[in-house]
Amino acid sequence: MTDDGADSAEPVRRSARAFADRVIRPRATEIDRVDRIPDELLRDLGREGFLSLGLPESFGGQPASTADLSAVLEEFSHASAAVAVTVAVHLSVCAFPIARWGTPAQQSTWIPALARGERIGAFALTEPGAGSDTASLRTRYTANAAGYALDGSKTFISNAASAGLLLVFATRDPSLRSKGISAFLVPGGTPGLVVSQRFEKLGLRGSETTELHLDGVQVPPAALLASEGEGLHVALGALAGGRVGIASCALGVAQAAFDEMQRNAHVDDQEWKRVALARAYSELAAARLLVRAAARRKDAGEPFDRDASVAKLVASRAAVSIASAGVDVAGMAGVLEGGAAGRLLRDARVFPIVEGTSEIQERILARGLLESPGSQSA
Ligand SMILES: Cc1cc2nc3c(=O)[nH]c(=O)nc-3n(C[C@H](O)[C@H](O)[C@H](O)COP(=O)(O)OP(=O)(O)OC[C@H]3O[C@@H](n4cnc5c(N)ncnc54)[C@H](O)[C@@H]3O)c2cc1C
Repeated sequence: MTDDGADSAEPVRRSARAFADRVIRPRATEIDRVDRIPDELLRDLGREGFLSLGLPESFGGQPASTADLSAVLEEFSHASAAVAVTVAVHLSVCAFPIARWGTPAQQSTWIPALARGERIGAFALTEPGAGSDTASLRTRYTANAAGYALDGSKTFISNAASAGLLLVFATRDPSLRSKGISAFLVPGGTPGLVVSQRFEKLGLRGSETTELHLDGVQVPPAALLASEGEGLHVALGALAGGRVGIASCALGVAQAAFDEMQRNAHVDDQEWKRVALARAYSELAAARLLVRAAARRKDAGEPFDRDASVAKLVASRAAVSIASAGVDVAGMAGVLEGGAAGRLLRDARVFPIVEGTSEIQERILARGLLESPGSQSA
């Protein structure tokens, strides 16, 4: 599809598509069925350099723009949304924050292993009582002679079970709300860090989502990312960048659902299917333009939060809408277990929730629109 004619990321898109066709797509149904991404697929991703995109070259990364990463995630998600989200979380909300806020020592300690895929990254913010309202988190940290001890629970954490490194957010005192939160780099396997539950999900099966308990997890002073009290700033900054990635994953699902619908609409040409296809095309085209615009703005160093929120909102809605219409067009085949149309609908349905729900994107948008009317015009 060439809606806007210009895709600055074409070379990297081609290699991502080739990898997706060769390595990811043949395994997508099985990943969904057994709810697990094979270890060798993660190793292949690391070997081929996809886990180092956009990380500093001095630490084993390779240059990549936001547009490049967006193209890779879209292509991966077209084959398997679970694989794409695993990569998006690893890079956008674990490795990139270290590259942005880490000291040279933290970068040299962690980024090379993340870039090679020897450690998979996770981001642990959400808690049983703190989802959209992130400032209300209750996982505590206490300073001691050896550094910091972390105690509490986290839930819905992607990549955590196999994580080699977790970016964990904790508060010195919950009554301080956003001012009390700090970010810590916690290696997987640290004593006291326990994966207490692995959730079975409707969609994105294969992308592991777990509950974590932290029971006296001791980390050294060097585990603190940025300064004490800057944790929420780190989290929200990481999530804003991550939103372009998640929007790209949603776009990949939307495109896959459209392609599936187009194939099925051909089987018996009916007027209502033509209308459904045309509507889906317009939703897909709008989502694509918005995702590309958000990536472009971020690459240009311009404020992009609003663009990222709009892109995530529209792309995740497009994915749900197109995948749902795709099930109608597929008819019986759309609801059969193991069928592509059904899997795409289940995957699509998670995107309006993950990394900031649609309602939260609308709140971000409304706040910006009222606080600075006229800026970042649509
Ligand atoms: C597959 C998956 C993977 C995830 N991975 C991670 C991860 O790696 N790390 C991590 O930290 N978290 C992760 N999350 C958590 C995710 O970010 C949260 O689920 C999300 O922020 C919403 O929080 P919640 O589920 O507690 O819902 P709640 O915040 O309780 O919200 C419930 C509903 O109320 C709405 N709502 C809440 N507040 C408002 C408001 N003020 N105005 C209007 N509507 C509102 C929400 O939009 C939502 O529809 C993941 C979630 C999923 C589903």
